[in-house]
Amino acid sequence: MRKPLIAGNWKMNGSRASIKELLDGIKAGIDEVKTAEVAVCPPFVYLADVQQQLSGTPIAWGGQNLSTEEKGAFTGEIAASMLLDFGCKYVIVGHSERRTLYGEDDAVVAVKYGVARQAGLKPILCIGETLEEREKGITEDVIARQLNAVIEKEGVAALGDGVIAYEPVWAIGTGKTATPEQAQAVHGFIRNLIADKDAAVAEQVRIQYGGSMNAANAAELLSMPDIDGGLIGGASLKAEDFLTICRAAG
Ligand code: PEP
Repeated sequence: MRKPLIAGNWKMNGSRASIKELLDGIKAGIDEVKTAEVAVCPPFVYLADVQQQLSGTPIAWGGQNLSTEEKGAFTGEIAASMLLDFGCKYVIVGHSERRTLYGEDDAVVAVKYGVARQAGLKPILCIGETLEEREKGITEDVIARQLNAVIEKEGVAALGDGVIAYEPVWAIGTGKTATPEQAQAVHGFIRNLIADKDAAVAEQVRIQYGGSMNAANAAELLSMPDIDGGLIGGASLKAEDFLTICRAAG
């Protein structure tokens, strides 16, 4: 049985004060989350605060990005070892905002996946099609290309060390959620693509849905057989909404 993972991607939001309030709220309700694993991904500068506030709780934390490099003259970058230094378990790689706004292509994302994994972090690999790509009927081609970039570089077994987040770009931050059937169709496609190469990895790997998942629609999405949790943006910034999603995952 795959344990669902609900992860909050806070993006570039929050302050030391608001994060304390948010984490106090999540911690107060975490005992009611029976099955799901829960994680939050704050902006880098708040990792020390988050580590201090979440150590000893069942809630994990992670980075939103990492450098392809180990160390050195890379101004503004954050290395995998630095994330580990602050107790991170996860790191998001290839979020669509990194791909579109910061030019990260499949090759860069594959390198980041490998760097994270080899350092001992669990990469959350984001993949997903744009609206234009969906309307052209090439969703599966796009998903296969994004996934195969990692498989070709790292090998299919590497997917077992991470998590996949299917995030249709048209659903991120837009309030437009994929229907459970639309999401399940792509999740099933992803699992089959992996199963063609390694059935055991396909069975084991968690595939989260991301894209305007919220307290109202989470239960239905999470009831689908190949949806193993959620990567949550906006709704992860409100403790009660985030907890409702976590409880919906079990
Ligand atoms: C995300 O950024 O990964 C995301 C899913 O955002 P939202 O939930 O706000 O659509």
